[in-house]
This record gives sequence, C-alpha cells and structure tokens, in this order.
Amino acid sequence: MIPVALFLAGLVAGSFLNVVIHRLPAGESVVFPRSRCPVCRAPIRVRDNLPVISWLRLGGRCRDCRARIPVRYPLVEVSAGVLFVWAPEGGDPALVVSRVLLLSLLLALAATDWERMVLPDALTLPGAALGLVLAGPRSDLDLVTSAAGALLGAGLLFALRALWLRFRGVEAVGLGDVKLLLLIGAFLGPAPALGAIALAAALGVLVAGPLLLLGRIRRDTPLPFGTLLALGAGLVFVVSTGG
Ligand SMILES: [Zn+2]
Repeated sequence: MIPVALFLAGLVAGSFLNVVIHRLPAGESVVFPRSRCPVCRAPIRVRDNLPVISWLRLGGRCRDCRARIPVRYPLVEVSAGVLFVWAPEGGDPALVVSRVLLLSLLLALAATDWERMVLPDALTLPGAALGLVLAGPRSDLDLVTSAAGALLGAGLLFALRALWLRFRGVEAVGLGDVKLLLLIGAFLGPAPALGAIALAAALGVLVAGPLLLLGRIRRDTPLPFGTLLALGAGLVFVVSTGG
C-alpha cells in the first residue's frame, strides 16, 4: 500500500516538474496561471491533466488542436514515481530528502537543457545551497566534503570551458554547466562529482562520435552537455548512495 501511495505522490511531483521544465526557461511563473496548450492556448481540463493516464488516453495529443504533447511528460512523471518509491530505501532522513531533491532537480535540468539548451539558475543555485545544508545531517557526507565537491566540480568545468574557448573558440561548456557542477558537487562530494564529469564526457563521445561520422552533426554543433552531466551525476549518485 505504501509503495503505491509513494508512486502516486511521485507522479504528482513529476507533473509539477513538467510545469517547471516548461515555464522556468521562458521566465514564467510556475504556480500561475492554469496550464494551457502551448500551441492553441486552450486551457487544459482537469480530466486531461492526470499524470500519465491523460497522455495515454489522448494518444499524446492536445484534445483541442491535436498538437503533439512531448513524450517527456509521461517520462518525467513515471521517473518521479519510481524515485519516490526508491528514495526511502535504507537511508537516513537527510539522505532520503537529498535523493528526492537532487534527482528531481537533475531530471528537470536534463529536460530544460535538452529542449532549450538552458540550465536555469533558479534550479542550480538554490539546489547547490540545499546540498550544502543537507550535507551536515547526512551520515555519508559532511559540510567540508560537500563544499569541496562543489568547488572542485565547478572549478574543473570552469577550467575546461576556458581551455575550450581559448583553443577552439567555441563555448562547449556554458556557465550553466559550471553552476550545475556546484549542485552536483554539493550533493556528491569531490570524487563522485569527478566521476560524473568523466561519465558525461564518455557518454558525449559515445553519442556525438557516431553522429559526427555519419555527418548528422558538425564539429561546432552545440550539444546539451548539461543533459549528459545530469544523467552521469544521477547514475553516480544512485550507485554511490546505495539503497
Ligand atoms: Zn492545443
């Protein structure tokens, strides 16, 4: 019974994350007004706003104009549902809160970077501060390790960014990525944060390499590196905090 209730709570949280993903990069309020179809502006009815179920019943399309509703909506909702069921497994309360917070933020940031190439400061900076605050009560981390993780992670990305700009003249790593590493480092500590960067770089080579060879992208095509960093950090965090 409890896992079902947690899963449902996660679906609702995921539904809110979808609103954040859609509205934050556009500079809109996440609480007001009611949701509208971005294409035809028709207000979304309550019965069409149920997590996952409505998307399936509507065949992934707006009821009014038949515009496609991205598969990201049900994906984020189900991911948050699974997260809420997993988070309480064998962790102290601060770790459980950290799991919910960090992975929700990474989910949202992965989506905003993928869709709009932005990593909103409104998510990364308060998130990093919360990571530091939660490090104290966590049994697997402490404030100094957390701060070291944030500074080392962000410092390394800032150095990478500077090198790339200097030698290639392209902004391969944005300032948003640097701030994302403040968040990741604060929750993971130094060594796992470096692991997350290495994993993201490896994923980038694996994904971009074949696309480059096939001529689907060019050397200067901007890639959503933040999405890869969020993915890498999420994987490293889940593995390293067990459960
Ligand atoms: Zn519509």
